[in-house]
Amino acid sequence: MNIDQLRKDALEHLWTHNGSWVEMAENGGPVIILKAKGIRLTDSDGVEWMDVSSGYQCVTAGHAREELAEAALEQMREIAYFPNFGATPPTIKLSKKLAQITPGNLTRSFFVNGGSDAVETAVKMARAYHVRNKEGSRYRIISRKGSYHGALGITTHLGGRDVNEQRDYVPSFPGLLYAPQPNAYRSSFNTEDPELDAELCAKAIQDLIEFHGPETVSAVVADPIPGANASVPGSCYWPMLREICNKYGVILIGDEVITAWGRTGKMFALEHWGVVPDIMTVAKGLSSAHLPVGAVIATKEIASVFAGGEVSKPFIHALTFGGHPVTNAVALRNIKLIEDENLVKNSETQGSYIRKKLLEMMDKYPMIGCVQGKGLQIGIDLVIDRASKEPIPHSVRETLGDELEKRRLLVRPGSFGFTLYPPLIINRDEVNELLEKMDESFSATHKLFF
Ligand code: PLP
Repeated sequence: MNIDQLRKDALEHLWTHNGSWVEMAENGGPVIILKAKGIRLTDSDGVEWMDVSSGYQCVTAGHAREELAEAALEQMREIAYFPNFGATPPTIKLSKKLAQITPGNLTRSFFVNGGSDAVETAVKMARAYHVRNKEGSRYRIISRKGSYHGALGITTHLGGRDVNEQRDYVPSFPGLLYAPQPNAYRSSFNTEDPELDAELCAKAIQDLIEFHGPETVSAVVADPIPGANASVPGSCYWPMLREICNKYGVILIGDEVITAWGRTGKMFALEHWGVVPDIMTVAKGLSSAHLPVGAVIATKEIASVFAGGEVSKPFIHALTFGGHPVTNAVALRNIKLIEDENLVKNSETQGSYIRKKLLEMMDKYPMIGCVQGKGLQIGIDLVIDRASKEPIPHSVRETLGDELEKRRLLVRPGSFGFTLYPPLIINRDEVNELLEKMDESFSATHKLFF
């Protein structure tokens, strides 16, 4: 393989996501990954990296699983594609499996290609549900500041971490409302009490519904533990949100795109609070990222309004590749891997250990402001000063990023620190290696700046 030619071709033709090819050129072209196995990646210079981010938080059962490759090949040889206006065996089997393992009465699955289209679909489903129920005035959608729900149409404007991300895409959609996000470390209500913070955040959603009129509100879209900082809401938050949505007839969309499949130490994160959403969105780790797949799983109550023979009744929404037999066969096999290898339990065990060790590191490194998360969804907030909680400046961030990179950890700090999302197969030796490399990276940065 001519790697130099590949690099040149990438600079000429490849449009990388969220990136600049000028920057790529300054670095002599992109890092080209040639191989991956388990939690490790090998680049074209033969350098091995530890993937502690699971790519985009999606490589649940590890890279390049033989079982998943076999499942894809077997299915491709049987039937490689049929549109989802009909059905194929993997599609039916996966819908049954999801009904069995999701909490409560989430029983019917609409298959899509990924997380953004899962949330787009859920939002349309919620609006169509209200229209079927003769409540067509319900069009507003409430999401939370700081959450991320995707990059397509309406999902571009749900949540939002940084106005710059949405700057190119105004005007937005009508009826989008934004609520504060619970964050025990950086409360929007200036409280140190996570329960009070959670209660006030839930009440803010109630206020929005009451202020704009419940008859205008369609849905609340919320991710159980946000991807950007892994901040775990106080324990009252999700039960309160469920109660508020019930009270005002608003659909609760639980966006489990990052948190499902054991990432937080439960198969689905909302199980931590015993809450069942009306619609759940899943994607990412459903196939361990071996193929693009997502699902929108609705309760019996939601799905039943779309039943019946009238032409206007079905949910009019279709994606060419939604319910693809090959991706669904791989997803089914992947869920079996998660179950057979006890990956949900491993996520809980290894995640608790990593957090404990990081909390111990706080004694040595004042730049660690706090450590948050559940299971193997871990957030590390980095500050220049613990009292003011001022985020570390760019120079410290760059140095720490370079130190982590030097040790071949595939992670880079952002404006508030960084998150760890290792594949759920990570074992104790690998965890200790990761912790040692982080300790060294913090130490080198600490010596220079603190
Ligand atoms: N929802 C959440 C909670 C996410 O974290 C993401 C992606 O990070 C999405 C939706 C969008 O998923 P995708 O990138 O597969 O479109």
